[in-house]
Order: sequence, then structure tokens, then C-alpha cells
Amino acid sequence: MANRVAFIGLGMMGYPMAGHLAKRFETIVWNRTATKAQEHARQYGSQAVQNLQETAQAEFIFTCLPTSVEVEEVVRQVLPALKAGTVWIDCTSGDPNHSRRIAQSLREVGCDFLDAPVSGGRAGAEAGTLTVMVGGSEETFRRALPIIEAFAGKVFHVGDVGAGHAVKAINNMLLAVHLLATAEGLVALAKQGVDPAIALEVINVSSGRSFASEVHFPERVLTRAFPNTFSLALLAKDTRIAVSIAREVYVPTPLMQLAAEMFEMAKRQIGGDVDHTAVVKLIEGWAGTEIAPRTKEG
Ligand code: NDP
Repeated sequence: MANRVAFIGLGMMGYPMAGHLAKRFETIVWNRTATKAQEHARQYGSQAVQNLQETAQAEFIFTCLPTSVEVEEVVRQVLPALKAGTVWIDCTSGDPNHSRRIAQSLREVGCDFLDAPVSGGRAGAEAGTLTVMVGGSEETFRRALPIIEAFAGKVFHVGDVGAGHAVKAINNMLLAVHLLATAEGLVALAKQGVDPAIALEVINVSSGRSFASEVHFPERVLTRAFPNTFSLALLAKDTRIAVSIAREVYVPTPLMQLAAEMFEMAKRQIGGDVDHTAVVKLIEGWAGTEIAPRTKEG
């Protein structure tokens, strides 16, 4: 039997993810700014709807919204129209506690919930190679897997509802820590007279390397391009979730707390609408130097 899917939230990530779904399944799309849904329908042959509740016709409903707050609100609005047996798959980088609450409200009307946040950025979403970390029951995971695979490179079942969001928050906290630590190290080296471009080349074939040093610094920082594909506000949100997860289980996490504070400060100082890598500018500002390649003289 052919599955019908719906996708709510055609942002940086959701737009291409829903595009991959539309290539395999009959796909309904809804977006707060309706013109984006209409454009999606033209580009991918999906069905754009104006009324949010029309997404309830699908057997699998996806959300990819900024935070769990928006997801909870959307679920509240669609809930009265849902058919029993519908699976709600939330690809937002959300909050595990919100997800458990959402799952409970869906269970009360005979529906299932999976938290299925993704990693791989806009490029991974466009290529259909995202890493997906899923929380929920084994049975629901098995049902949803062939659908999720439409936009995924790797799909992991990591535990019960909330576990996907927890893994995602910690992953992004590691990204945040790597960005901050690499920026601190490189401004210190620049002040010592070392060319940051050469320092990065060394680090990237040595033990201090990370995704941030291998990809973000060469492509976004050294070039001074900072292309906005994942906002600083969204990464700041992820660091807050990571800290709250650790606090809930009384695990001391001083590094994580400091990183979350620094992202909050960066958001206030340089704004949340810039790319997450622009956090580096905060550290550059304190040091009074930029992480840019030395210009060759003579
Ligand atoms: P965007 O800001 O690009 O898109 C957000 C989407 O949510 C848009 O479709 C927007 O609609 C919609 N939206 C915002 N507020 C509301 C609301 N109140 N009600 C209904 N819809 C709303 O975000 P991203 O696509 O970058 O991120 C989405 C999620 O994925 C986030 O949780 C993020 O942390 C996560 N993520 C992002 C990655 C990235 O590289 N960008 C990578 C991995 C995960 P509208 O078009 O009207 O603004």
C-alpha cells in the first residue's frame, strides 16, 4: 500500500528533506510562509496545503521546526484531525522532555511519535545523506524506517522517545566546544605570529582535529565567508538543551555549561541570525585579531 506523508516546516533543512520524500511518496507540504510550500509543490510535485489540519490525511507526518515549542503548538493544532495509527516524526533538534509530553498527547489519540533529529547540514539534506538518530518504540521505528531512508545516509535507533533529541543535543554541544576551542587556539597562535592557515593544516593531520577544524574553519572562517546555513541562535538552543539534560541527571559538566554561556553571550553580542561559525568573531574580538590567512608580501 502506498504511503502518504506530510511535511511541516520547509526551512533550510525541511525544504530539501521534503523534496526527497516527494520523489518516493505522495507528499503533502505545509509551511508558515505559504509561498515556500507553493514553490516546493512546483519544484518537487508535492501537494501544498494552506490549512495545517490537512496534513492529518497522511500516515506519516514530519516536522522540522526551530524548537520543540513550535512543534508542540503545531501538534496541538493538528491533533483533533489525526487518524489513529498515524506516526508523527519530529526532525527538529528538540528537547527530550517536550518530546515525551508530545508523545503522550499523541498516544491518547492512538498515534505514535518518534523524535528523529538529523545531522549533516543543508548539504546533507540536499544530497539525501543525513544521519538520523531516532527515539521511540522499536515497532514504530521499524514502520517509519523505509520512509526516513528517503533523506538519510545512516539511521540509528538510539532509545525510547527523547533519546534522539538527547543524542543530537550532545553532538551539537561537541560541535560548539570544538568551534570555541579551535578559535581560542588559533587566535593565540595568530598573536604568536603563526599563520592560522598553516596551523590548521598541521592540526588537520594531527590529534587536535575535528569537523570544525577540518571543514568549518577552512571553508567558513579563513575565507571570512561565514555563509548562513545553520543559525547561531539554533546552536545556542542546542547547547542549552545539552546542559539541561546533564543537570537533570546531576552530572557535573563545567565545559558544557561554559560553552552554553558563551553561545548565549555571542547571540546577544553578534546576533542570532548569523551562521553558527560567526561565534568565532566573539573570540577574535577579545583577542583583537582575526583568524585569516597571512597575506603574502612582496
Ligand atoms: P530554518 O529557520 O531555516 O527553518 C525553520 C522552519 O520553521 C521554517 O519553515 C519556518 O517557517 C518554520 N517556523 C518557524 N517558526 C514557526 C512557527 N511558530 N510556526 C510554524 N512554523 C514555524 O531552520 P532550519 O531548517 O535550519 O532548522 C530546523 C531544525 O533543524 C532546527 O531545530 C535546527 O536546530 C535543526 N537543524 C538544522 C541544521 C542546519 O544546518 N540548518 C542541521 C541539523 C539540524 P517560515 O518559512 O515561515 O519562516
